Amino acid sequence: MKETSLDKIVSLCKRRGFIFQSSEIYGGFGAVYDYGPLGTALKDAISQRWMKSMTQLHENIVGLDSGILMHPKIWEASGHVGAFNDPLVDCKHCKARYRADELVEENPEDAVWKNIQCPSCGNAGELTDPRQFNLMFKTHVGPVEDDAAAAYLRPETAQGIYVNYLLVQGAMRLKIPFGIAQIGKAFRNEIVARNFIFRTREFEQMEMQYFVKPGNDEDSLNSWKEERLNFYSDMLGIDSSKLRYHGHGEGELAHYAKEAWDIEYEFPFGWSEIEGIHNRTDFDLKQHQEYSGKNMQIFDQEANEKYFPYIIETSAGLNRMLLAVLSDAYWEDSENNRVVLKLHPSLAPVKAVVCPLVKKDGLPDIARKIVDELKPHFKVLYDQQGSIGKRYYRQDEMGTPFGITVDHQTAEDNTVTVRERDTQKQDRIGLDGLTEALQAKISTYS
Ligand code: ATP
Repeated sequence: MKETSLDKIVSLCKRRGFIFQSSEIYGGFGAVYDYGPLGTALKDAISQRWMKSMTQLHENIVGLDSGILMHPKIWEASGHVGAFNDPLVDCKHCKARYRADELVEENPEDAVWKNIQCPSCGNAGELTDPRQFNLMFKTHVGPVEDDAAAAYLRPETAQGIYVNYLLVQGAMRLKIPFGIAQIGKAFRNEIVARNFIFRTREFEQMEMQYFVKPGNDEDSLNSWKEERLNFYSDMLGIDSSKLRYHGHGEGELAHYAKEAWDIEYEFPFGWSEIEGIHNRTDFDLKQHQEYSGKNMQIFDQEANEKYFPYIIETSAGLNRMLLAVLSDAYWEDSENNRVVLKLHPSLAPVKAVVCPLVKKDGLPDIARKIVDELKPHFKVLYDQQGSIGKRYYRQDEMGTPFGITVDHQTAEDNTVTVRERDTQKQDRIGLDGLTEALQAKISTYS
């Protein structure tokens, strides 16, 4: 099995412009990351595939982009003001801070959790009683900082879908079952943020809420479970042996859930959740009807009745998905002493690099012309710096699947060499059919 330490991925991400620590010149800012040129391109490619899998491949699923700031009552209705808490404990000795539930999970043999050794200083019996800590970020809207103007940064995108669902349904003339998909930022004041972009205080969610007739919820959950797992291997090219389901037991269920499953990926730091599939029942819609005083029931024309639909939610973290893609693609090719990101060509931020073998004899001009020809179709780079081997190795780390070299033969017969990243095999291809040949290789998954 491939063993990759997270540190190596973090360092590659910085070196090649995928991900940087936020506010680095000020010493960094807790658990926030900035995405560089390659990181934004890769993140966009992943989110586009997700949106396509939802709204293009399903005729009855549509998109939405709701606000990050919403009416504060939404978060009372949803239960987040009252119940979106994590139990916080401190070590009295070294002041380290933990989530009590995570400490217990890591030390299942300790029945009396307070005896658990502090993982930081090693002292036992020094942990405080847990205090409930609300994970929502609170802010103030307008100039006056009183409670009337309090608002929250959304901790999940789902509520924006629920409060709009009847408007969307009416506008798009949707019949049950139907879904609404949304990609957007969410914020949680996590007690312990760790593992790079796995758990951060600002992150992006890709959530799809599927509205079904009560009674059809269990079948729907099962079919979404299957479809969502396949997405990772079929549309992101992730190794399926590193994916699995984890079912939530009674004690693990969120306040709104009847049934919940996590899709887990085997990260360098172990199996961890990347997406949750939840049966949220009619909890949220009933709550919103009660708190807003507005009708939240749907009229089902076919059945000629009004009811609260049940909601099956698929809730994925874009940043975690990106980390899974990076972890899966990271490859140390020790035989050739190089690091390669084996990204699927359809996800790779740069599809090809064009290199003149030498900086003279008219080769740079030919290479520039090839760049001009390819760039309307996909992202390409021109590189004439350093030896050809060094140029390729740089691109291998960026995940660029194809290297095109213009050499003296090109001037004679209009052919170039095309090198494949993973195998390093080189073929000679005629310039006439170059765009089409590359496009065919790139679009396998589209
Ligand atoms: P965890 O148990 O890891 O805190 P959760 O069960 O609270 O996650 P959900 O509320 O189900 O997570 O959120 C859905 C998805 O949103 C998660 O599967 C994850 O991919 C993403 N997510 C949640 N919290 C974070 C975070 N702090 N940083 C990055 N992604 C997150």
